[in-house]
Amino acid sequence: MTFEELGLSAEILATVAREGYTEPTPVQSAAIPLIMAGRDVLAAAQTGTGKTAAFVLPALELLRAHANNGFSPARHPVRLLILTPTRELAVQVSEAVKSYGRGIPLRSTVVYGGTRMDPEIKILWKGVEILVATPGRLLDHVGQRTVNLSQVEILVLDEADRMLDMGFIPDVRKIVALMPANRQTLLFSATFSNEIRHLAGEFLRNPETIEVAARNSIADNLTQVLYPVDQDRKADLLINLIRRDSMEQVLVFTRSKLGASRLASYLDRRGVSCSAIHGDRSQQERTRALEAFRGHFVKVLVATDVASRGLDIADLPYVVNFELPYEPQDYIHRIGRTGRAGASGTAISLVSPDEVNELRAVQRLLRKSIPCQVVEEFLPDPDREPSPAPRARGGRPSRYGQLSAAAGSR
Ligand code: AMP
Repeated sequence: MTFEELGLSAEILATVAREGYTEPTPVQSAAIPLIMAGRDVLAAAQTGTGKTAAFVLPALELLRAHANNGFSPARHPVRLLILTPTRELAVQVSEAVKSYGRGIPLRSTVVYGGTRMDPEIKILWKGVEILVATPGRLLDHVGQRTVNLSQVEILVLDEADRMLDMGFIPDVRKIVALMPANRQTLLFSATFSNEIRHLAGEFLRNPETIEVAARNSIADNLTQVLYPVDQDRKADLLINLIRRDSMEQVLVFTRSKLGASRLASYLDRRGVSCSAIHGDRSQQERTRALEAFRGHFVKVLVATDVASRGLDIADLPYVVNFELPYEPQDYIHRIGRTGRAGASGTAISLVSPDEVNELRAVQRLLRKSIPCQVVEEFLPDPDREPSPAPRARGGRPSRYGQLSAAAGSR
């Protein structure tokens, strides 16, 4: 399937070519013709599947008829509203809208909580056809009458499952009530739970359903490797690997916010340029950290699972698990950030003897073992075991022994 075959106009095809996309992803092939035909769509697609372009490109196509350079705000009512659960995703989607829509005289902006409203209000007053928003902040604007949703033609609920998890559905309901009933609605969700189907029944009219392969399967072009190492030597091993392999653009996951900031400052002190993104940082700090990383100004971005949700950093060559996650599913989410869209990637896990249970859980989920590599000088110290290594008291293998056995077995 080619983009031409999807029925896109020359203008949008030029956009696609400019982005360097040679062929549509499965969710794009399925969704674009339906959306252009005006259908409501319920799509199961995770981040990394090309879902943003799957709704932005056809929506731009539909709105092109309204494109104008008129001065009056009345000529620029909100016609496309995209709701997202997090500010990071909102910013990311808004950037996609701006770059896909370059050259088309449609105005767009993004509004999200945690920042001052004044600059947003100034832009909204002038009129925008495309608005990307988090639900709470959008309702604040509605309350201040800085935005009017009565002319919305297309509503997109992006990552609806997370909006549900985060308790945003009552807000979404209030927002939907302000929109014309004959709008087109597109609901994107990583998973189809019963609750999501229920929501679709509430917000969508006779929708077409699209399901693309879940990213639970690991991309073929992704290399996974684990290094056994004691917890307190992980930072030094990481530095060693970064230098040894001249790594750039390394996304490092830690379990805790404190762990993230500690590691970031340690790396910085040791001359590895680094920033951190976690829940305790202000929106401005997070945006700055992400921009520094995206712009290659820093080599390493340290993140917690929660803070990383919705982050899209394209073509990431390395993901490092500084600690294995408590939830094995998070391992899949984390490493899904590399090896995307055909690019090759490496997922590295630094595993201490304490993490043998987490390692087993991850390997059970993967249904295979993660290949183990060693850097001799960083091998865990068996003498640290409270009991004689490699066999602990009572004949049970020591944790060191268990790690050696688990790394390289199922
Ligand atoms: P998304 O699932 O929307 O977060 O997109 C994931 C990444 O895939 C983004 O970096 C997009 O720029 C990229 N992408 C989207 N569509 C395509 C395509 N057809 N070919 C190659 N890359 C794409």
